[in-house]
Amino acid sequence: METDLARAWLRAAAAAIEVNRDHLTRLDSAIGDADHGTNMHRGFTAVLQALDGYPAATAGDVLIRAGGTLISRVGGASGPLYGTALRTAGKRLTGERPDPAGLAAALADGLAAVCRLGSAQVGDKTMVDAFAPAVDALRASADAGEDLGTAARAAAEAAEAGLRATAPLQARRGRASYLGERSIGHEDPGAASTALLFRALADAAAR
Ligand code: ADP
Ligand code: MG
Ligand code: MG
Repeated sequence: METDLARAWLRAAAAAIEVNRDHLTRLDSAIGDADHGTNMHRGFTAVLQALDGYPAATAGDVLIRAGGTLISRVGGASGPLYGTALRTAGKRLTGERPDPAGLAAALADGLAAVCRLGSAQVGDKTMVDAFAPAVDALRASADAGEDLGTAARAAAEAAEAGLRATAPLQARRGRASYLGERSIGHEDPGAASTALLFRALADAAAR
């Protein structure tokens, strides 16, 4: 991943979050505390500000800076989780000229860090349910020798399928878990924002 693509990804992500802010908050009002859209919007607005004029040498620098900003500026569970994912992925991308396989490996590290920090696994009805299938699809596409645009499109589709699959689940992590069985029947807000982030990556890679 080139530095320009990393910046384009985060710009596309910020734009998608702005458009979907109210939708994310609506999802969070059903099974959380109705702030996920606001949290993500505040975080990604701060990310764009933090990157403006920031002399990043590599894509990894861009992601590390973005991750640190989310950690410090978002006061919800999602800030430290996404921030840690981006920082961890960024550390793996520094100094490389990453291809789809390198990006898949970096995002797999980011996913592992989220699972560790959140004590979450696939099926707990969290962002992990969109993130994990996206990373799997990215890796499979990279292994098949496909280019970054194709790989990122496969990842976005997998994340969107993972999001839809959260609806029938009962939440086992995060605020939604306090609802017990009443969390069933709603898509997870963090899985929804993860799907937006991978769709933004596909859009940025297609340009
Ligand atoms: P908060 O729940 O603190 O208000 P947000 O509303 O911004 O934070 O984010 C909620 C989302 O964060 C959830 O929908 C879920 O996807 C994700 N999440 C919450 N707790 C965890 C966890 N322990 N592990 C993984 N993801 C989590
Ligand atoms: Mg919330
Ligand atoms: Mg909150």
